[in-house]
Amino acid sequence: MPTKLKLRLYGDPVLRKVAKTVKSVGLAERLLMKELIAAMYDFDGAGLAATQVGIEEQIFVGDSGEGPFVVINPQILRYSFKRTILEEGCLSFPEIRIRIERAETISVRFQNEFGQVIEREYSGLPAKVFQHEVDHLNGRLIIDYATKTDLEKYKGQLAKLEVLSLKPSHRSKAHV
Ligand SMILES: [Zn+2]
Repeated sequence: MPTKLKLRLYGDPVLRKVAKTVKSVGLAERLLMKELIAAMYDFDGAGLAATQVGIEEQIFVGDSGEGPFVVINPQILRYSFKRTILEEGCLSFPEIRIRIERAETISVRFQNEFGQVIEREYSGLPAKVFQHEVDHLNGRLIIDYATKTDLEKYKGQLAKLEVLSLKPSHRSKAHV
């Protein structure tokens, strides 16, 4: 069944909101996470932050090839000195790809779907997804890393998204 959650596109002010801390993890939060996972697969993404469907809570889901994971109240405790560049896309920016330099390895703390505090390290793609999604929860977007050349290249697409994001009935697929 397709998701009922509406993907918010660049231009939607909710994408710039700083998400609120989740006070307790209960049934409602678990249901929301299930919906977010379904929506992430429906939209064909590697990650989805709650703010991308208009919910201002510190929750994101991801799947970097090893099955879905859910993250609540994430904190990045340490960034590796080693940084690598990856060309990143974003469900809220269809057809746009920006080269972003981020830490290769991060140490993180978050809560899982049962409210348990987890501390661990991520490297490679999962570390990139984690940093991308934490950015979302802080109102930060891939366009904030864009160079002048990127902005020039995607000027038309960005303008189109700004208009599209205002349509109340709009529902986007990742590759449309
Ligand atoms: Zn994104």
